[in-house]
Amino acid sequence: MRSALGLMLASVMTAVVIAAVWFWTSSPKRVELAAPNTVAVPLAERLAAATPAKPLARRDDVEFTAAIPEKPAAAPQLNCANPDALGVSRVVEIDTTGGPGFGFQHFKQLDFLADKEVVLTFDDGPWPNNTPAVLKALADECTKGVFFPIGKHATYHPEILKQVFAAGHTVGAHTWSHANLNSKKMTDQIAKDEIEKGYSAVKLAIGAAPQPFFRFPELQHGPAAMAYLGNRNIAVFSCDLDSFDFRAKNADQIVNTVMTKLDKQGKGIILMHDFQKHTAEALPTLLRRIKAGGYKVVLMRAKASMQTLPEYDEALIRDVKVPVASTRPVSSVVQTVSQ
Ligand SMILES: [Zn+2]
Repeated sequence: MRSALGLMLASVMTAVVIAAVWFWTSSPKRVELAAPNTVAVPLAERLAAATPAKPLARRDDVEFTAAIPEKPAAAPQLNCANPDALGVSRVVEIDTTGGPGFGFQHFKQLDFLADKEVVLTFDDGPWPNNTPAVLKALADECTKGVFFPIGKHATYHPEILKQVFAAGHTVGAHTWSHANLNSKKMTDQIAKDEIEKGYSAVKLAIGAAPQPFFRFPELQHGPAAMAYLGNRNIAVFSCDLDSFDFRAKNADQIVNTVMTKLDKQGKGIILMHDFQKHTAEALPTLLRRIKAGGYKVVLMRAKASMQTLPEYDEALIRDVKVPVASTRPVSSVVQTVSQ
């Protein structure tokens, strides 16, 4: 059984779905441009990724492999004012074909993190004060995370989500209204609407294609929604380590919860909420502790960006009151100068 598994793994090595990309080894310009470059995938490639040639495998059959570097190189902090910053030790590119799952709380197949590696993830934003504070803490440490914004929040505060995207963080989605897609009342159509409208809202806010990364509200993985995401080639994120920041009484509690779990587990995808005030307050200390503990940050990024569905993009633009550029009367804008 083990050798069969070994053979299977060997065969899927040809279809490497996760590639390690060294982040800090090239020029400063490269570091700055890394995120937008990754998003700007040629249309043909995105279409190919969105159109699987064969019926999608069951989630259990998702093929994968991971490239873990032999020995992570020291990460020079280019373009970073903080010489002792946490930084990003490597960037992994995810082939989201078939909708692979990440985070051992629910998906135990893709064990791609090396010992002492963490992925920082943030849900439920964008939100005034808290999200900008999270961004500042990450920037101060020259490090990056994966954000799962709520569609409605993205329409309330598009300028904040734009800042998240512009800072080079990975931006996925977390439904339109944070509905539980696994509840008894949930229908396939509503689940689809929640997923698609959420992505369209993110796209409208950042003015670019989101990444095909998704996190279920409350980590409620409904089977129908899982199948839908698989067909849309969207990777699903659970977590390895829940900060439970939404119920923390203060920042210290979040720091202690995360560090205790991290020291026990040794690595993992950490679930936090940029929506939460205490998380924003905790982050500077938490990132220092992560650094002091010898942990390294890995940034996850999709190989191909997400193609939203035009009908949801259009419906959203109709629904959301897009601010008009000017409230000046016509006569002050247009004047006849010759007749
Ligand atoms: Zn959430």
